Parts: sequence; C-alpha cells; structure tokens
Amino acid sequence: MSTILVINSGSSSLKYQLIDVEVEEVLASGLVERIGETTGTATHHGPAESHDRDLAVADHAAAFAAMRDAFDEHGPSLAEHPPIAIGHRVVHGGVRYIEPTIVTDVVKSDIADLAELAPLHNPANLEGIIAAEGLFADIPHVAVFDTAFHQTLPPAAFTYAIDAELAERQHVRRFGFHGTSHRFVSRAAAEFLGRPLGEVKQIVLHLGNGASACAVDGGRSIETSMGMTPLEGLVMGTRSGDIDPAVLFYLHRKTGMDFGELEDLLNRRSGLVGLSGHNDMRDVHDAAASGDHAAQLAFDVYVHRLTYYIGGYFAQLGRLDALVFTAGVGENSPEVRARAVEGLGGLGIRLDLARNAAQSHLPRRISTDDSPVAVLVVPTNEELEIARQTLSVVR
Ligand code: ADP
Repeated sequence: MSTILVINSGSSSLKYQLIDVEVEEVLASGLVERIGETTGTATHHGPAESHDRDLAVADHAAAFAAMRDAFDEHGPSLAEHPPIAIGHRVVHGGVRYIEPTIVTDVVKSDIADLAELAPLHNPANLEGIIAAEGLFADIPHVAVFDTAFHQTLPPAAFTYAIDAELAERQHVRRFGFHGTSHRFVSRAAAEFLGRPLGEVKQIVLHLGNGASACAVDGGRSIETSMGMTPLEGLVMGTRSGDIDPAVLFYLHRKTGMDFGELEDLLNRRSGLVGLSGHNDMRDVHDAAASGDHAAQLAFDVYVHRLTYYIGGYFAQLGRLDALVFTAGVGENSPEVRARAVEGLGGLGIRLDLARNAAQSHLPRRISTDDSPVAVLVVPTNEELEIARQTLSVVR
C-alpha cells in the first residue's frame, strides 16, 4: 500500500485526507477548525468511526499536532501506513507554476510573494506547508496550485482591457481558480461519456460556496469565470461575482466607504447572503418556497448569471458536447440545474426532469437521450486529484 497525505490549510482551518493511492481509497480524513481562537474543534474520521473533540488550537503547528494525535489515538497508524509524500493545496501559483511542484525554499518564497495576489489564501497555505514539514521532514512535499489548470488560457481570455504597461508592471491579469476541481471533473466527464478527453468540448460549472465556470476544450481550460482573484464571475454564497467597477467609485464618493470596507462588501456581504440573508443555497430554496421575495430574487439572479455564462462559453467553444455540474450546489440542487438550462433547448440542451430530480453520489447523465449536448452531474474530488498529481511528481 502507498499512501499520500493531502493537506488543505486555510487561515482558520486544516483539512486533511490520507489516501491509499494504489486503490484510490480514503483511509482517514479530518478537519481542525478555529485555528487561532481560544476554543477550536478537531474532527477525525478514522477507519471505524468519527471522533470530535474541543481543544485550543493556537496556530497551524498546533493544528498539525492535533491531526497527528488523532491518527495516533484513532488510527490508522501513520507508522504502519507512512505517507510517501504530502500533497498541499496552494491557491495561487501565478504564471510560474503550471505543474504540481516539489516544495523547495524557492517555491516557498514564491508562494509567499504571491500572497499579494491571494492574501486570504497563500499565507495560510504556506503556514500549512511549514508546519507539515516540521512533522514529516523526510518525505517530499508537493504543492498543487489552483491556478495551474488555467495557464492554458489564451491571451485574449486572460487580458484585462486596461493600460497594458501598468497591467504588466503590476501583474494584473486573469488567472482563474478551482483548477484542481475543473481538471478532475472534466476528465471524469470524458471518461463517463466514454470518449477521449482530447476530443470533448465541455463547460464545467463548479458551484460550491465559491463558484466558477470553465470552458474546457480537449482537456485544456480556454476560459474561466474567476479572474485575477476569486471575486469575478458567477454569483456566490457571499461574493458578488461580476459587477460594474464604477459601483465602487460611486459608493466610495457617496458613502465614504474605504477600500477595506468595499472589499469586505463584495467578498463577504454580497452574493446570495447580500441579496437574501442566506449564503447556503438550501436556505435560499426553503425561504423562496415559503414566499420570501428576497430569496426568490437571489435565486433568480444566481441562475440568470449561470445561463449567461453557459451561452458565452458555448460560443467560445464553437460546439458543446457536455455541460457538467459539480460541487455542493451543482451536485445537489435540481432546482438550480433546471433553471440554469431552462430555455436552452435551441442550443441542444435538453434536461430530463426525472433524471435531474434523482439523487446520487455517482456521475450521471441528466439530459434526455436525444439531447445533442449531454448534461452531466459529476461529483468533484479535489483531494483525490491532489493525491494523483502529487503521485505523478514523486513517482
Ligand atoms: P466549498 O466551496 O466550501 O467546497 P461545497 O462544494 O461543499 O463548498 O458546497 C457547499 C454549498 O453547497 C453549501 O453552501 C450549499 O449552498 C450547497 N448545498 C449543499 N447541499 C445542497 C442541497 N441539497 N441543495 C442545495 N444546495 C446545497
């Protein structure tokens, strides 16, 4: 058995999975939350059962110690299943990191420099790497970048139409995110269709708390909805997605809100929560069903934007073989899927309502048999993709 430990280290949480990469099976997973607060929690799903405990987690090193203790107490034993490598999720790899990369001092310093572009994510990813190196000193650590998959975007897709010299000097361009998920799901979709990835044109809609669309042409990302940061594009749980930038100038002049407040407005107090008070799509559905007009409008704006992107990406691809829904909302909300493609029969997208309503954790087709475009639901698995990519570097 060969195992890889996958680490997703956020500013206040640590998620981990120990994966047997021979059979692609999860041996254990866990979550340490509220790092830096006086009371945190550690949840560990071991071989037999799940365990929760409250504890203070001062910093990332303490979170990793809690993870190690959980493995020691509840198994599986890391001594018996020693990981051959650690795979780390890193959000921003800039233009340099287009492949999974063995972590060196240079790589760490580049991840730190890229914090300018991903201030919420890269510093926490780096803290996770440093803490993990403390625990697992003798095995390779591999960084897998969320931006990497989108480095195939053509210049016309990644360039903002602003002063070119300023943009170049300040590294202002579109990067795209959720690349690990878009890569995994687009491959799995081609496999499900039984067609070579290289000949499939698809649109992947990753709809979780964060959300992004990606046009994938023969396995290559050619357009994606997130930009220089994960704020651009679709309506999300708490993020606005696309907005006229002049709204910010206007609000600043009119209300005196400063940049910090405007950043907070668009990242944390917009999207579904800004419109309806609920950031979870399940709550939006419930509220709308009970006649809450604000929740109904939030849903309408969310699906309106989705339809808009589907149409635009269809045009960019020139032909569409598959439209693929994934992540929390995409995998679980028949309402969102149905409304997003309602009226797209003219584009060859025909949903089978009974298939759409059926719940399952497996990849499945939800379009009619005669629909020229296959509409699929394909569960994402970013941890498995990180493990696969880590393995590809260390083998
Ligand atoms: P993250 O971006 O944090 O990885 P997920 O992909 O797990 O998020 O998606 C989480 C979101 O999925 C929740 O906020 C919720 O809105 C949505 N979700 C989960 N289950 C359902 C469901 N049955 N119906 C509608 N939305 C759901």
